[in-house]
Amino acid sequence: MYCSNCGAQIDDHSKFCDLCGAPVGVKADSQISSVTQPEISNKVDQEKKPFSGFCIAGFILPFLFFGAIGLPLSILGVVDCNKNGKRGKGLGIAGIIFSILNILETIIGVVFLYLLAMGMNPSPALYG
Ligand SMILES: [Zn+2]
Repeated sequence: MYCSNCGAQIDDHSKFCDLCGAPVGVKADSQISSVTQPEISNKVDQEKKPFSGFCIAGFILPFLFFGAIGLPLSILGVVDCNKNGKRGKGLGIAGIIFSILNILETIIGVVFLYLLAMGMNPSPALYG
């Protein structure tokens, strides 16, 4: 028989090739056998549930300075997601945060405008 590695003729009874030392009957390729890489599962959640419109509206509205509207819509959206298993819960939560920030900004803005309207000089009444 012949060595599967180097092709040298070797004794039928020998377990290793006299020339290259490769185990008889075992292909040299097996030494470099490609390690079968585990398939990277790119399983994306295929569930295509509709986005909650509340979440989208609640997420966008704060950017349009409608935080007061966006907040309840975002809350509705999160509830909608929880109840009906819709997507967009993250958007809803973000919408709540942005809405609250927007409302705070609005309040600060209103207070600032109020102070501006009253005149930047502190009122003497405040100091008794
Ligand atoms: Zn050999």
